[in-house]
Amino acid sequence: MYVFSGTDICKKNYVNTLDYLCYLSSVKKLFSFTHAWKTEIFHLILSGLIKLQMKLLLHTCCAPCSAAILEYLCDKEIRPALFYFNPNIYPREEYEIRKNECSRYAGKLGLDIIDGDYDHGLWLKRIAGLEKEPERGKRCAECFQMRLSATAWLANEKGFDTIATTLGSSRWKNLKQIAEAGKQAVAFYPNLTFWDKNWRKEGLSERRRILLKENDFYNQQYCGCEFSGKNN
Ligand code: SF4
Repeated sequence: MYVFSGTDICKKNYVNTLDYLCYLSSVKKLFSFTHAWKTEIFHLILSGLIKLQMKLLLHTCCAPCSAAILEYLCDKEIRPALFYFNPNIYPREEYEIRKNECSRYAGKLGLDIIDGDYDHGLWLKRIAGLEKEPERGKRCAECFQMRLSATAWLANEKGFDTIATTLGSSRWKNLKQIAEAGKQAVAFYPNLTFWDKNWRKEGLSERRRILLKENDFYNQQYCGCEFSGKNN
């Protein structure tokens, strides 16, 4: 069986198998593609003789942002481990509610979820001086960097080849800030790639709304920290 690595796949944001194989044909000269070849390879994938493999650690911020992404990944036979690491959330009761909702949905899909430490004091030190920044400002950039750096560190320790985050699923977040934080987080680890996928496309925003209702998720009304949304 030929196994393609997750790093290869996410470098080009490929999950669509045929597109990915076309990419390989041009870059790696593995195949000379005719339409017949593509069809043949597609059958080999379906029969399990060629497999696309990604060892993905997915940073998860909350159940509403994660559900459609997890459904999408599982449909593509990518089964990530989840990392719940959000020391930004305040107060602790709110943190526990969001974490429990994530665990409930992960359990429903049979996915592992890793519980990160909750040290809100450390988060406050990290963003010190940025308390008055508006949402999508410098405080949020720092907040993303803290969470994704921890995700990259853990992924490297545990032998994952790819990280991603559900943070960008919310239209209130700045995608450029998230992408920058992800790229910086993996820069220390040569074997790790940040999958900079736009999770708002391919119908995922619509599925987000549907799954939120179907699963009766707790739906928070503010981003998370005491300086966000209704809290400021
Ligand atoms: S508003 Fe949200 S992303 Fe920004 S610092 Fe607060 S919790 Fe983090």
